[in-house]
Amino acid sequence: MERLDHFMARANAAYYATHDPFHDFTTSPEISQVFGEILGLWAAVTWETIGRPDPVLLVEAGPGRGTLMADALRAIGRVAPGFGAALRLHLIEASPRLRAIQAERLPGAIWHEQVGTLPDLPLLLLANEFLDALPIRQFVRRGTSWSERFVEGARFVECPSTPTLPSAAGEDWGAGAGDIVEINQPALALAGALGHRLTRQPGAALFLDYGPEHSGPGDSLQAIRDGQPAEPLADPGSADITAHVDFAAFAAAARAAGATTHGPIPQGVFLTRLGLFQRTDRLARSRSPAHASALIDAAHRLAEPNRMGRLFKALAICSPSCPVPPGFETT
Ligand code: SAH
Repeated sequence: MERLDHFMARANAAYYATHDPFHDFTTSPEISQVFGEILGLWAAVTWETIGRPDPVLLVEAGPGRGTLMADALRAIGRVAPGFGAALRLHLIEASPRLRAIQAERLPGAIWHEQVGTLPDLPLLLLANEFLDALPIRQFVRRGTSWSERFVEGARFVECPSTPTLPSAAGEDWGAGAGDIVEINQPALALAGALGHRLTRQPGAALFLDYGPEHSGPGDSLQAIRDGQPAEPLADPGSADITAHVDFAAFAAAARAAGATTHGPIPQGVFLTRLGLFQRTDRLARSRSPAHASALIDAAHRLAEPNRMGRLFKALAICSPSCPVPPGFETT
């Protein structure tokens, strides 16, 4: 019998060590180069607003193939050379296989297992589809208490849980009999560590990922094997296992550590405000008609509410002195 988060960590480590995840699913930076360009310029503008610290860390958590950062650095080099000269590139990546791919595209980067070992400098951090890969625990409401879900032989088994778990949030949602609540302890720890850092050093972190706007009960564990939805508990290491991000809990953990937060707002709103369609049109005009229409369709895929524009959200965690970052203005 294994705790669900332990199972998920083991299964995903095996999966990322042996598979090219991008055969199985397509992420935003792999859909359009404009995604990484926009995030790079978001970091550049935010750097200006915190007083152009030099040196400054540009960090990506879970860079995958390195596509987002390669696109970001190209845009920064062209539009914000001052930021390009000040930045030091650091990457947080667990998979040795993906580190090797990232090294080819991002020469000069320095790798870390986690944020704790980053140098103590001002920082701008980007992360796309990182939090959804972190391991969750699930609790089921049984009577007036909770049971935790464990994995045994590709099936769930329940064990009564200590009364302090899960967090009080589960109670606030008014969970009824049989409801499942999820907690992502590594994500909450990351929010706390970043929040704490950003009270000591100026900076901001931008997370794009999928999940609901408000916390609530529900089983969001899912798996993709060979490009198809699959049973998450079967054959660990053969599928990518993820869960929806609880943005409200994540943001609250960052604020509890002293940071300010903005969002979550829908990805489509965020990218459109930052010029997704203008940049796409400019690029499209310089391409063949076939390539141009693929670029335009890619932009719609990222932004349309019934595609990736609404389920995906953007959230920023900032140092208390940082002005509202680009894209999060409320007026
Ligand atoms: N951001 C990329 C890749 C998303 S896949 C994109 O948008 O295409 C998730 C990424 O996070 C992979 O690079 C994976 O190896 C990394 N990752 C997952 N869990 C991690 C952990 N606990 N620590 C560090 N990296 C992790």
